[in-house]
Formats: sequence, structure tokens, C-alpha cells
Amino acid sequence: MVEIKEIKKVPEIEKASIHSHITGLGLDEHGKAIFKADGMVGQEEAREAAGLVVQLVKQGKMAGKGILLVGPSGTGKTALAVAIAKELGEDTPFTAINASELYSTELKKTEVLMQAIRKSIGVRVREKRLVYEGEVKELRIKVAKSRLNPYVQVPREAEITLKTKDDEMKLTAGESIAEQLVRLGVRKGDVIWIDAETGQVVKTGRSKEVAKYDIGGGGVEVPSGPVKKEKELTSTFTLHDLDLNLAARQISFTAIFSLFSEREISDDIRKEVDRLVKDMINKGNAELIPGVLFIDDAHMLDIEAFSFLTKALESELSPILILATNRGMTKIRGTDIESPHGIPLDLLDRLLIIPTKPYNEKEIREIISIRAEELNIELDPQALDELAKIGSQESLRYAVQLLEPANLIANRNGRNVIKPEDIKEVYNYFADVKRSVNYVKEYENLLLK
Ligand code: ATP
Repeated sequence: MVEIKEIKKVPEIEKASIHSHITGLGLDEHGKAIFKADGMVGQEEAREAAGLVVQLVKQGKMAGKGILLVGPSGTGKTALAVAIAKELGEDTPFTAINASELYSTELKKTEVLMQAIRKSIGVRVREKRLVYEGEVKELRIKVAKSRLNPYVQVPREAEITLKTKDDEMKLTAGESIAEQLVRLGVRKGDVIWIDAETGQVVKTGRSKEVAKYDIGGGGVEVPSGPVKKEKELTSTFTLHDLDLNLAARQISFTAIFSLFSEREISDDIRKEVDRLVKDMINKGNAELIPGVLFIDDAHMLDIEAFSFLTKALESELSPILILATNRGMTKIRGTDIESPHGIPLDLLDRLLIIPTKPYNEKEIREIISIRAEELNIELDPQALDELAKIGSQESLRYAVQLLEPANLIANRNGRNVIKPEDIKEVYNYFADVKRSVNYVKEYENLLLK
């Protein structure tokens, strides 16, 4: 248990942020898609199919199987995968990679896949802790050390009154609790939990969620002789988080600096993490949460990667695998064999295929308007029409990308609402793929000189 507490999540660039408006599949109680719900728009049949997949996963009937999303780019394949993960639960891990990433690093491609798989399996750790809980009624801080020393920032003494449900308890603490409360910026009226065993402040805040727990009363001295309450706290990590954490403990200080860059994790470390996790599960302190691993442009995977994935699907610890492609018949990379979507037949046999269709202008308009709302960007209706037209003529992704620069232009012109002329201006500044290709063609001779 001690190992788990100290884990810091590795900061990662939030790949899913362009899909942050998606909170679920937007289905009604009969599993039918609502045109616009949970941030999802249109693509009804695919969403309904995805809803069935979610049910199968929940019933444990997707073991050994995966999903293949087939459709032109920009038809919301990633968006659908994100929605499936959301439907499976708030803390369900979601990892999205592009197949080309396997071939663009120093790492072995099976290592990249293994890391992606372990990023997609969560471990929800339950900890029983003894805690005090209460609302801070009064926080008086006396700085005992000289004020002249600018490096003295932590007050040495503090007096804190905690109001509980039945009572008030006065904590006079010249030690770590007071320092923590000050460091955490606790204010009068905040609700806090203090771990009764360690004296660590576990949680602070003003939310009802923090406040709703029942609180024991009594005159209490910290840290000895308290009335203790047992609470259950949960936190979720991925197996990859745990691998990194264990690796960090086993390597030298200098090697730590390379830890969070690309690095292979040894089998021994993974085995040890699996053993620790199994142990916690057996003791009833943890449970596994299979997450979603989404691999875009799956036709770019090669035969070795496919066999690795097929094997992974069979293992008892497997995420829900969602592949996506926009290719039809094509060669399986690394072989001379043609196969549907460039995927070997033995893997295809295990995949449920969901087609996605191009959007019409109305759907594009709705998606752009959801994205604008998510980004706090205001468009007047004509500007939205204009952008929807661009989206259906060029691509949805291009239209969505124009939102932020158009907003900048509107701001420069002293407005916080985007007008059609702003859209025209950004459309001229930034080329979509078709126009940029034509440009190169037109100037081919000059560019190649
Ligand atoms: P694909 O994976 O098929 O290329 P994608 O999901 O990556 O498609 P983008 O082309 O990146 O889609 O989509 C642009 C934006 O539109 C993203 O913010 C995406 O979340 C959003 N989007 C796509 N389809 C839908 C949908 N059906 N409902 C709501 N938002 C969508």
C-alpha cells in the first residue's frame, strides 16, 4: 500500500482535449441515439452500435474481442472511442495512439504497444484511513520567527478551530498540521480531512462532496487520543503509472532524469507491479478497470504489431481494443498479403466492425457550435453558417481549427463575437489541405528549383 501512495501522475499532453466536449454516447434508455446529446451529434447508427458494445463490455462478453471503426477521416472515429470510454465510467483510462507512432521512436514497437496497453488498464485502489473531518471556523496564525528573514515562509504556530457536526474541536498545533493547512491555503469555512494516523491533510475544499460525510465529535487533541473515524478513499492509477513508479525506486538518482522521457521498462518491473496489484486485489484493496486503447490508422501496423495485439487480446489483463482505419483492401504491412483494411484475418475475425459515415452540413454546424461553446467562443449565426459550409466543403477538422484564430481576429477588431468577415479572413490566411496541394502544384516548378 505504501508504494501506491507516493505515485505522481506523469504529465502528458492531453491528446483527447479536442474531444473534451464528449461526455458519453448520447443514447436514450432504449439505446437509440438522440440527434444531439452528451456532446455527440449525428452518426446515429455507429453510436447505437457502440452502445451495444458498451453493454457487452459491462457483461464481460467482449473478452478476446475488439472493435474496428471503418470510415473516412473526420467522421468521428476518435470521438466515438472517447464516448465509449466515458460510458464505461468516469475514471476509465483512455489512450489514443496513431499506428505511425510505433515506427517513429527509439523504442521497440512492441514496447510502445505494451506501454499503450498498460496506460489503458486502471487500478482503483481503496484505502481505509482514519480521518478527522471538519470545517475550519477560525484560523489564526502567529509567525514566531523573525519577519526580517524572507526565507521564513511557514508559520511555526497556528491555532485552528474545527467545527464538527456535534461539537467544536480546537486544534492547537504548532507542528505539521498547521503548516500544511497554511501551505494548502485553507481558509475559514473550508472543510478538511486530516488523517488521524499520519497527521496528513487528506483533502480540503468547500464542496458539498467534502462536507457531506458524517463527522464524529468530541474534544480532541492532535495528534494523540483522538476520536477517529474510518473513511474509504479511492484513487485510480494505470498499470503504466505503477510501472514508472516502481522503476523510479529502482534506478540511480541520475537515471531519474531520463525516466520520463522515452525509456523501456523491464519485464521484471512489470511482473513485480502485476504481483503487487494481484496482491491488493486478493486483499480486497483494489480492483482492475479495463480502459480503452484506441489505435488510429490501424492499416499502418505491421504483421508483428498485429500478432502482438492479437496475443494481448487473449491475455487476462487486456484493455478494450478499438482500431480505426479508412483503407479498404490493402497489403498487410511487412508482408505481400492483401487483406481487408490491411488487417490479418485471424485478428479481423475477432473484431466487431462499425462503419462511420461523412457528416452533412447540419451535423457539421452542430459539432462546430458545440466546440465553440466548449472553447468559450461566440459566433454569430451567419459566421456559424459560413464555417459549417467550409466544414462540409473542406473538412470538419479544418473548420474546427479555424475557430480559435477567427476568435483572435474578432478580438483584434474589438469584438468578442465572431462575424462572417472574420471567418473569411482566417479562411484566406490558412489553407485547407486541398488548397495547399493545389498551391504546390501551381508553383511546382518554382518550389523545386
Ligand atoms: P476521425 O478519427 O474519423 O478522423 P475524429 O474523431 O478524429 O475523426 P476530427 O476530424 O478530429 O474527428 O473531428 C473534429 C472535431 O469534431 C473533434 O473535436 C471531434 O471531437 C468532433 N466530432 C467528430 N465527430 C463528432 C460527433 N459525431 N459528435 C460530436 N463531435 C464530433
